[in-house]
Amino acid sequence: MKKKVYFKTFGCRTNLYDSQVMMSAMQEYDVTENESEADMIVVNSCTVTNGADSHVRSYISHVENSGGAKVFLTGCGAHTKGEKLLEQGRVSGVFGQSEKEKIDEMLGREEPYYEPGDLNHIDESVVDDFIGKSRAFIKIQEGCNFRCSYCIIPYVRGDARSMNEEKILEQIRRLGANGFGEFILTGTNVGSYGQKTDSSIASLMKKISQIRGVRRIRLGSVEPIQITDEFKEILDEPWLERHLHIALQHTSPQMLKFMNRRNMYKQDRELFELLAGKGFAIGTDFITGHPGESRELWDEAMRNVKELPLTHLHAFTYSKRDGTPSATMKPEVGGKVAKERLHELEDMVKAKNFEFRKAFGGELDVLIESQKDGFFIGYDQHFNKIMIESDEDLVGNWVNIKEYEVKEESNYGRV
Ligand code: SF4
Repeated sequence: MKKKVYFKTFGCRTNLYDSQVMMSAMQEYDVTENESEADMIVVNSCTVTNGADSHVRSYISHVENSGGAKVFLTGCGAHTKGEKLLEQGRVSGVFGQSEKEKIDEMLGREEPYYEPGDLNHIDESVVDDFIGKSRAFIKIQEGCNFRCSYCIIPYVRGDARSMNEEKILEQIRRLGANGFGEFILTGTNVGSYGQKTDSSIASLMKKISQIRGVRRIRLGSVEPIQITDEFKEILDEPWLERHLHIALQHTSPQMLKFMNRRNMYKQDRELFELLAGKGFAIGTDFITGHPGESRELWDEAMRNVKELPLTHLHAFTYSKRDGTPSATMKPEVGGKVAKERLHELEDMVKAKNFEFRKAFGGELDVLIESQKDGFFIGYDQHFNKIMIESDEDLVGNWVNIKEYEVKEESNYGRV
């Protein structure tokens, strides 16, 4: 009887993809989606903030207190926290992302080990299923060449490199043939796809759109400077979601300098207005409380956010990461102030999202992903959630809905 392995995935969509690669590559063990029956647990960790690290540690404590399945650590946290957790005997093995396709060997080792692997590795695998999902995350790129002063990612994911284009297309052909219609292109710095391989994110998406079964392409977080003229040519394509997530991280020009960001507020605003003019919903990343964020710079940033046609937000309070330039920057901002600013920002963008949904009022093209509390839950072309009542099982279905109610927390409809 094969031993059972449970995969616990933290962090970003790239980690979701990496976990799927491990599940697909595993031959000598069985995947279980039931944690309590697992003989082994693979923790695919995140280390982007202190909070991410403590979530991983408390999860390992949870496993230790509930029966003690063998724990193996991988993901970005393997490079920052792995050695310590191994020394403490809290994990049986630590392996870097580049070793994931050798999952059977990693799980089969008797002695504790630390195998950080190669930070310039490019995956060879082609996944053709996404267990328990109705949409497919496709990793097209890995690593990052930016050097934002607060960020640990380039040190744990390596420099930017693109997956083999033919392998990406083959993967989507197989997943399309398996009934997947929505594809989310993901990576560490997804907009840098194709830089060294004479391709680009825009030309790749055009090729993907030609594949049978592809109905909608979504994109992970891109940088403002990566929305090129070539990219702007595909903005009206029917297969492109009507939502883009464009990472600003801040809207005060001085703060962007402190953070060593490549974007500039004036150009960011022009880009966002162009996209909003085409009906796009727009999301962004934002960090509050980075060192140097004085009251004046915060007020300036909020005045600028007020002007931006934002609808979605992925925001954090600043989290000091040892080894990054920001870790030694002064003056620091107190955690309480950073949190207050985060809430101020979240409230503002939430109100903008509500206004956007009320103003739109048009037909929604929804992929139903799950069911909860009597509702079917899906996301529309603007990446807004909708809760749908129906007597039929809609999970995995596409639904076009004209009549729906717009409430502050979500849209509601009946099919
Ligand atoms: S773009 Fe900046 S924030 Fe994003 S992964 Fe690269 S260094 Fe980190």
